Amino acid sequence: MSKDNKLMEKIVSLCKRRGFVFPSSEIYGGFAAVYDYGSYGVELSKNIKDAWWKAMVQEEDNIVGLDSSIFMHPKIWEASGHVSGFSDPLTECKQCHARSRVDHLLEDVGVFADEKMSEEEINVLLEENKDKIKCPKCGTKGKFSEAKNFNLLVQSNLGNFTGDWEKEATYLRGETCQGIYVNFKNVVDSTRMKVPFGIAQIGKAFRNEITARQFIFRKREFEQMEMQMFTRSEEGMDIYEKWREKRWQYYLDLGIKEKNLKWHEHENLVFYAKAAWDIEYKFPFGFSEMEGIHYRTDYDLTQHSKFSGKDLSYRDPKTNEKFIPHVVETSVGADRTFLAVITDAYTEEKLEEGNERVVLKFPKKLAPIKAAIFPLLKNKPELVEKAKEVYNSLKSEFMCEFDDNGNIGKRYRRQDEIGTPYCVTIDFDTLETGEVTVRDRDTMEQENVKIEDLRDYLVVNLK
Ligand code: ATP
Repeated sequence: MSKDNKLMEKIVSLCKRRGFVFPSSEIYGGFAAVYDYGSYGVELSKNIKDAWWKAMVQEEDNIVGLDSSIFMHPKIWEASGHVSGFSDPLTECKQCHARSRVDHLLEDVGVFADEKMSEEEINVLLEENKDKIKCPKCGTKGKFSEAKNFNLLVQSNLGNFTGDWEKEATYLRGETCQGIYVNFKNVVDSTRMKVPFGIAQIGKAFRNEITARQFIFRKREFEQMEMQMFTRSEEGMDIYEKWREKRWQYYLDLGIKEKNLKWHEHENLVFYAKAAWDIEYKFPFGFSEMEGIHYRTDYDLTQHSKFSGKDLSYRDPKTNEKFIPHVVETSVGADRTFLAVITDAYTEEKLEEGNERVVLKFPKKLAPIKAAIFPLLKNKPELVEKAKEVYNSLKSEFMCEFDDNGNIGKRYRRQDEIGTPYCVTIDFDTLETGEVTVRDRDTMEQENVKIEDLRDYLVVNLK
């Protein structure tokens, strides 16, 4: 097994063991490409989303938030092109009947298909390379059915009273940004936002992804964090470049190592786009897309104007000029950020006396638990009582954990594995001096801090 596969296995296993990520419906045998976040996972995920919201809404003067519904009028997905064009080419292994994405199979043998290729063109490529390709499930070579396009939209039966699925199909949204486009006019009318301005949203999206591999990188139910900036065409490209810079800097500020980030420029742009770059992260299986930054021109609002029959142009209040704004979009998955953050943080360290430790060196602001509070001994009521007091004084401001189980060394290892920046121990000296021992996750150094200074110590050091 390669080193990278091993790393992925270790991360998946740590995530399960320590309550970050569980496979969905496990007691029923699992449910492919769907995952649940456990008690630490939900904290990490929340901190990731809060950091994005702070950077994109709170600290930006001209971006406002939105929370649109998962269900939307079915016509929206026609207008967006998802009903006709949101598909992946699929083939079936004739031996074991497993279905795979043809573009992924081709990629594995070094052949790159273009997203815009027709079914026929993909089939020509598949035929030419078939003999080199192995079925990822059973390993049989070259026995594949003709490729067929498979739509990624997830259908529901909401409001379907006639049983006529074709006519009445409703969908779980395939991306969050359509909710932003269709609320553009509402936001203009209800806020003081003037073009250029942005609308940001965090929410679930659903796709019938065919290949269920790479852990939470590709889920069928996932969360997107998207921002659409509405601009004049003349300033669109400048605004686009600004956002490219900002989004790169955002990852550095978040604490992601720059060597694990890379730009990827799309070579084949969809006909309406002017520019498209991805920020890729070095996941355990290699560099792959984490975020897309796209210049989509006036395509989206024009489409929704056409399909809804409502005028979605914007009137400049000063000049009275009327136009359909262009859109600059930044779009990132919360789950992919989660996987990047865990990968970046995962560290194995050799300690003295041949011991080892696994530690998640999360940026402190993202750590699920900020401080763990320990009484030195479980069976000394005066220590337990003091430790509870310290814990209770901190917990309204910081996500804390109280732990009196096992020896201190074991408790440290456990907190290391979930990435807790500070462990606070209450011992017999505390009762005399009023000082606790604070141990730093990364340096493992310990220092004495007065109980009354502990709050300020955490505020300063957790920044
Ligand atoms: P990919 O090429 O990997 O399928 P995409 O180009 O289709 O991704 P977009 O439609 O641009 O992705 O979605 C924007 C962001 O949403 C992606 O950069 C990614 O972070 C996230 N995302 C997309 N699909 C998934 C998924 N199935 N699971 C988790 N995150 C996803």
